[in-house]
Amino acid sequence: MRRRTILIVAACLAILAGLLPMVAVAHLLRVRAIAAEQRHMAEYARWTLMRTKRVFADARQALVDAGAPPGTECSPEHIAQLRQIAMDARNVEEIGYFRDGRLVCTSLGPIRLRVPRTPPDLDLGGGFALVLNIQPRTFRSQPMLAMSHGDYTALIKPERLVDVLTDTHMTLGIAAGPGRAVALSGKTDPGLLRTLAADTTEGIDERHVFASLREGPLTAFAFGDRAQALARLQNDYLLLLPMGLLVSTLLVGIVIWVSRQRLSPEKELAIAIRNREFVVHYQPIIDLADGRCVAAEALLRWRRPDGRWIRPDLFIPLAEESGLISTLTDLLIERVIDDQGPQLRADRDLHISINISARDLESGRFLPILAEALARAGVEPSQIWLEATEQGFIRTEMATSAVEAARAAGHMVAIDDFGTGYSSLSLLQGLPLDALKIDKSFVETIATDAATSTVTPHIIDMAHGLKLRIIAEGVETWEQEAYLRAAGVRLAQGWLYSRALPAAEFAAYRQSRNAGSDGVLAGSALS
Ligand code: C2E
Ligand code: CA
Ligand code: CA
Repeated sequence: MRRRTILIVAACLAILAGLLPMVAVAHLLRVRAIAAEQRHMAEYARWTLMRTKRVFADARQALVDAGAPPGTECSPEHIAQLRQIAMDARNVEEIGYFRDGRLVCTSLGPIRLRVPRTPPDLDLGGGFALVLNIQPRTFRSQPMLAMSHGDYTALIKPERLVDVLTDTHMTLGIAAGPGRAVALSGKTDPGLLRTLAADTTEGIDERHVFASLREGPLTAFAFGDRAQALARLQNDYLLLLPMGLLVSTLLVGIVIWVSRQRLSPEKELAIAIRNREFVVHYQPIIDLADGRCVAAEALLRWRRPDGRWIRPDLFIPLAEESGLISTLTDLLIERVIDDQGPQLRADRDLHISINISARDLESGRFLPILAEALARAGVEPSQIWLEATEQGFIRTEMATSAVEAARAAGHMVAIDDFGTGYSSLSLLQGLPLDALKIDKSFVETIATDAATSTVTPHIIDMAHGLKLRIIAEGVETWEQEAYLRAAGVRLAQGWLYSRALPAAEFAAYRQSRNAGSDGVLAGSALS
C-alpha cells in the first residue's frame, strides 16, 4: 500500500472509529426503545381486553337477571326491576325488552314508538350477540353497543371498553372480525385497524408503534405515535454523546497508533521504494592527468513527497538491515541506465561507478539484471564499475567468486573506503580487484600533521604494487590534488571539482569541463 493510501485509510478508519460506536449505540438505543414501546403497547392491549371482558360480563349478568315471569313483561314491577338492574350494573346504561322483534319497554319505561330490533353484528357465543353502532332513542347523540340475549338488550357506552388509564399518549381499541371497530379511545385509519385486527401482533409502521391481542371474536389493541416514542429517546442520545466521544477518542488514538506502527522506518522505506521516490545524483570523477571528467559515481538520493531529502548514510544501512537493499539496487540500476544510457552510448570512454552492498555482491543476483539492462540500452559492461566496501570482501571465498563473476561479465570492480575497516593487505592480495578507492578520511590528512597522513602514501604504494587503479575520494583542496597527482593517482572526485549532481547538470558539467581540452593536459579544475 502506498503511503498516501495508508494515510487516507487511517484517516477514514479514525473517522469511522469515531462515528461507528456512536451510530451503533444510537441504533441499539432506538431498537431497544421501540421494543420497549411495543411491549408497553402489548401490556395496554391486554388491559383493554380485560376491561372489555369485565364490561361484557357485567352486561351478561344484567341480561340474565332481566327475565320476568311470562305475561308480566313490561308491567310496572318489571320495569322497576329493569331500572334497578341497569342502575346496579355499572357498565349498562339501559335494558330493553323486545316482543316480536319490536321494542316494547326499557328500564326507563314503556315505549310508544316501537322500533324494530337491529340484527346482531357479532355472535359472542352462549346465546349472546352484539350490535355495533346503534343509535338508541334515548341516547341520540351517541352511538352505543347493544348486547342482546333472548328478548333483552343491554346498552353499553363503547368508551367503557377502552376506559383504561394510560401513562403516555396512546389510542386503545377493540375490534371485531377483519377490522371493524367496536370501541376506540381515539382515531385510527382503516389500514392500521385491519393490521391490528388481523391477529395478535406487535410492530411499527411509518407513524405508529402498535400491539394487539386477540381473543375469540375480539381483538384488543393499543398504538402510539412513533415519532413521540423516538423523541423520548433524545435525552438518552444527549447522555450518550460524551460516552461516545470518549470511546471515539480512544479508538481514534488506537488507529493513529497502529498507523504509526505501520509507518515504521522500514515500512516507510519499502513504500518509498515502491513509489520510486529515489533519484540518482552523479559525482564527477576527474582524470588528474588531463583534468577531464571521465566518469561519475552514482549516489542515491531519497526525496520525500514533502520535499525533504534523506541522506544515504541514513537509509542505506536501514535498507541493508531490512533486506530492502536488493530492491534498491535494482532501482539504482534502472535509474542509472535511464539517466546515462545516451551519454554512455555516445562516449565509450565514459563510465559510471555504482555502489554495491555486501549482500548484493555475495548473492550476485543483480548481475543478470544489470546485464539485461545494459544489453537493452546498448551500453558496454565495461562502462559500469562496481564499488563495494571492505565488508563485502570479508568472507574472502564468496567474495572472490562474486568478483570473478562480475569481472567475467565485463565490469571493473573497486574496493571502496579502503583502510577504514579491518581489511588487511592479505585480503587485498587475495582478491581479483581492478581498483581501489582511497577513503576521504585519508585524503583529508594530506599535507597535515595527522598520524594517518603517513598511512596514505603506503596505501598508494600498495595499490601500485598490486597494479590497481586508484581513485581518491573527498578531494577538497589544491594541495591534496597536487599531492595525489605527484603520487601517481590518476582519478579523483571531491567537492574541489563538484558535488554530486542531478543527471542533466552532470551532463552539462562534463560538456563544459571537457570542451576544447581534447588530449591536452588541461590542468585541474579549469571550470
Ligand atoms: P561513499 O560510497 O563513500 O560515497 C562518497 C560519499 O562522499 C558521498 O556521500 C559523497 O557525496 C561524499 N563526498 C564526495 N566528495 C566529497 C568531498 O569532497 N568532501 C566530503 N566531505 N564528502 C564528499 P553520500 O552521497 O552521502 O553517500 C554516502 C554513502 O552512502 C556512500 O559513501 C555509500 O556508502 C552510500 N551510498 C550512496 N549511494 C549508494 C548506492 O547507490 N548504493 C549503495 N549500496 N550505497 C550507496
Ligand atoms: Ca562509493
Ligand atoms: Ca567512500
